[in-house]
Amino acid sequence: MSLTKSALDLSRQDWESWCASHGAKAFVAGQIQQWVFGKGVLAPERFSNVPPALREKLAAEFLWNLPEVDTRLPSSDASEKILWKTREGFFAESVLMPSESRVTLCVSSQVGCRMACTFCQTGRMGLTRNLTRGEILAQILMANARLQELAGEGNEARKVTNVVFMGMGEPLDNYEEVVEACRVMIDERFFGLSKHRVTVSTSGLVPEIERLGKDLPVALAISLHSADDAQRSEMMPVNRRYPLEELKKVLLAYPAHTRHGITFEYVMIDGKNDSIAHAKKLVKFVHGLKAKVNLIPLNPHPGSGMESTDAERMRAFQKYLSDRSIPAPVRYSRGQDVSAACGQLAAKREGELEMAPRLVALARRREYLAAKNSQG
Ligand code: SAH
Ligand code: SF4
Repeated sequence: MSLTKSALDLSRQDWESWCASHGAKAFVAGQIQQWVFGKGVLAPERFSNVPPALREKLAAEFLWNLPEVDTRLPSSDASEKILWKTREGFFAESVLMPSESRVTLCVSSQVGCRMACTFCQTGRMGLTRNLTRGEILAQILMANARLQELAGEGNEARKVTNVVFMGMGEPLDNYEEVVEACRVMIDERFFGLSKHRVTVSTSGLVPEIERLGKDLPVALAISLHSADDAQRSEMMPVNRRYPLEELKKVLLAYPAHTRHGITFEYVMIDGKNDSIAHAKKLVKFVHGLKAKVNLIPLNPHPGSGMESTDAERMRAFQKYLSDRSIPAPVRYSRGQDVSAACGQLAAKREGELEMAPRLVALARRREYLAAKNSQG
């Protein structure tokens, strides 16, 4: 029999029916999941509270390995990019960002993305496929394993405390898998992360934002980038389907927003969305929301014809917002050196493996997200 199913992809219900079909009690399902997600043990022979005959069946019927790490790109500022491969050999990435008070992991939710935002390299490559819940959760297990490796065997290691869905992909376009993965992240029997420390970043899929608020009100980040409908539609095709007015309406009703606020990501593009007139529209859009705006210098990519706003203009934009009581930190990247290395790596592999579109997307600069970690 060829093994096709990863043990990480099974839900509680899946495990319960598997247990039932093997004559085991339903609570064993929870024990199995606890070994995997609570303790990070991916070896059924070590599941000491599970009957030995069942351990053998577990070992025989499922795959227990984590995805293969292709490359690690450690940065001088202690962040580290982990480039890993799906079973078919597609590349995805996670970024580990430890700071004094927390350890943030930026995870991918898809290989590629179909939202086609003009300033984003992932957007240019289209969607290859959704990641499974197991592949999303595996990113945390891989990161924790890496932290253990860094601490040295036998020493107590730090663990991931915060997760941000800001790697490759649009998480709300892979709704079921992302939500199931989030449930395991915030379940105290498993990863036990606070729901305020799991952030879903979206380009603005309105029905799914509404659903998310009902299903599990984790922290929300909205990639806004412009508060002008015509311009946002041009930069982010999703705005044609869900214009600003609809987005605003759903955000006002989002349950977590009153207490913890909503983070808006605003990529600063030279001469495009960075004037005071744009700032004015932005202020109007966030009015009534408990909001923070992260101003992100654009990471340009070849052929895009776009550049980042310069520091002076950025300061003026920022001042306009802060004068109106809207916190607007400029998020400079951590791990810039790794970013560069990542771009080089992608270029090199492009030649080697002739997988240009996917690998080009991996060159995207995401380290600015680390600022969430260092300041937020
Ligand atoms: N698809 C989701 C999450 C992944 S993208 C989203 O769009 O929110 C994570 C962040 O990277 C988003 O805020 C996105 O707008 C931003 N981003 C994309 N391309 C960028 C670039 N070239 N420079 C800086 N940030 C970029
Ligand atoms: Fe997709 Fe986000 Fe990139 Fe837009 S910015 S193309 S939604 S990954």
